[in-house]
Amino acid sequence: MAASGEIKVTILDCGKMTADLTWLLLKPGRSIRPRQMRDQPTEWADVPTHTVLVETPDGTILWDTSCPRDWEERWGPTGLQDFFPYEKVSEEEYLDSRLSQIGVSTDQIDYVVLSHLHFDHCGNADMFKDSSAKLICSDKEKDWAFGFDGLFNGAHLKTDYEDLNWETVSGDTEFLPGVTLLQTPGHTPGTMSMQVDLPDSGTMIFTSDAVYMGESYGPPTTPAAIVNDMGQFYSSVEKIRGVAEKTNATVVFGHDAEQIHQLKTVGNGGGHYT
Ligand SMILES: [Zn+2]
Repeated sequence: MAASGEIKVTILDCGKMTADLTWLLLKPGRSIRPRQMRDQPTEWADVPTHTVLVETPDGTILWDTSCPRDWEERWGPTGLQDFFPYEKVSEEEYLDSRLSQIGVSTDQIDYVVLSHLHFDHCGNADMFKDSSAKLICSDKEKDWAFGFDGLFNGAHLKTDYEDLNWETVSGDTEFLPGVTLLQTPGHTPGTMSMQVDLPDSGTMIFTSDAVYMGESYGPPTTPAAIVNDMGQFYSSVEKIRGVAEKTNATVVFGHDAEQIHQLKTVGNGGGHYT
């Protein structure tokens, strides 16, 4: 674990879902076709998923939990397993494998912070059910995720989170020294981003689904098909951009198939940010 005064960030790349690019990027000429492109096939894209371990002198955080091994069965009631199959994943890429590769057990994690409760971020939260880790999400996300009737609503699937004890944060919060949770709603009512201020690597902002990929960030910003509130979505992207410009941050997008290969990740030979 981190020595006093140090923060260490490790990005755990956890394989890829695949999907019609239109879900991620509502972009004329790319995912939305003009008549000249009407006969071209749908662009089917890799949708990588990652989690982030943040070790600090004041506690260890796991940011997001990626998709579960039993995705096909678990997501079955939603029908979305055919739209976002978690099919480009190898044995060593599942979250539990990644954690054991870096020698971290669930008991060494103090906080599991969920950017939001969609099934591809919250899918392994139940790994921590009997651990000492506290499960954290935004108050608005919890209210929404527990507030609808039935088993699922879009990619919110109660099986992932309803039997777990959630603690919530409200507003922008310095969660631990050097780690700030930013409210960046729009994708869902309580989507958060995580800002980590590192002595050597500088500031990193993990946007999760507030910004899917570099092409979403722009400028100009490109929205996705799954946005709960479009006005909030645009405001949140500009909020992230403002913080990023002020801190000269590295912005790590939620599901960017090109960027994930440019980052230091466990699968890219390890590597940490300090
Ligand atoms: Zn999402």
